[in-house]
Amino acid sequence: MNALWNPALAQMQPYAVPDSTGLVKLDAMENPFPLPAEIARKFADRVAKLPTNRYPDPSAALLKAAIARQFPVASGLGCVLGNGSDELISMLMQIVLKPGATVLAAEPCFVMYRHLADVFGLQFVGIPLQDDFQLDMPAMVRAIEERQPALIFIASPNNPTGNRFLEPDIEALARLAPGLFVLDEAYIPYAGGDGHALAEKYPQVVLLRTLSKWGLAGLRLGFIQASGRVCEQLEKVRMPYNINVASQELGTLCLENAAAFGDQVQTLITGRESLTKGLAAEGVTVYPSAANFLLARVPDAVRAHRALLDRRVLVKRLHGAHPLLENCLRISIGSPAENKVLLENWRSAVHD
Ligand SMILES: *Cc1c(COP(=O)(O)O)cnc(C)c1O
Repeated sequence: MNALWNPALAQMQPYAVPDSTGLVKLDAMENPFPLPAEIARKFADRVAKLPTNRYPDPSAALLKAAIARQFPVASGLGCVLGNGSDELISMLMQIVLKPGATVLAAEPCFVMYRHLADVFGLQFVGIPLQDDFQLDMPAMVRAIEERQPALIFIASPNNPTGNRFLEPDIEALARLAPGLFVLDEAYIPYAGGDGHALAEKYPQVVLLRTLSKWGLAGLRLGFIQASGRVCEQLEKVRMPYNINVASQELGTLCLENAAAFGDQVQTLITGRESLTKGLAAEGVTVYPSAANFLLARVPDAVRAHRALLDRRVLVKRLHGAHPLLENCLRISIGSPAENKVLLENWRSAVHD
């Protein structure tokens, strides 16, 4: 049957998620705190009345209204919902899909850009970041001019490096884009500021956002804010019932009670600063982060990753993923108690 398969799949592996049972889980940029109790109570009251026998509202009107209140943008921009922003990345690729179409990103970056480009048979061009993880502007400009990408993905803050890119660089690339310029703002709750002004200025700018890193990774809710013409195409490829009734209900409730999440985010930002100091004091390189994770370079990342696992702490090993990530680990910011466990085990796992 080998002749049957999409040839791209031969080179690919499924996205691997390690078992984390019983571990301090610091590998996936999840918010470590549970659903705020008041929201959980309200949801419990509503859950029995959810019309689970019916298909969900295909327009998810109430959820979209809550998003519009929480993330206001100019009236010319539309909103399209996805089952996580992963699904929206896939939909963006579907609307530009044709022979020879190219996707451009600055690497290392979020792995799904390349993974999905491969699945769809799009050409993927990855331009290395500079050593300080900022954009290599001459190389990016040259690649845009030569390759005329249908899609450019820039995540700011970037995953897995944690830094924001310079705003004038982002705007210069957005202005040059011959196709769509996707500004992935997954980590914006931890960074402040956002790209809505850029999207209002340039019709090719697509804001890609998610509630996952904010605290709702399990709900799978992402959204795009972009010009009406982009949204119109996205609606053609969107599965009509992609946001289930429970996600619509709980997502709306959480956005209406956003302050509770604001407190959690604030605690994580404080944790980020103290963990940065704590790890730096151990003598490893910790890169400045505007997200809810840290990138650290250690003497031997393969050994350190394994030794932390032996101590029941799960972090992400990035060594081997890209030359710029040699001996790097990515560590999500946990609760204060989890951060303490990490620090207590760090010296023996990483240095001894
Ligand atoms: C985590 C992440 C996403 C995916 O988020 P989901 O909405 O959970 O699919 C998108 N972009 C970046 C840069 C991420 O780190």
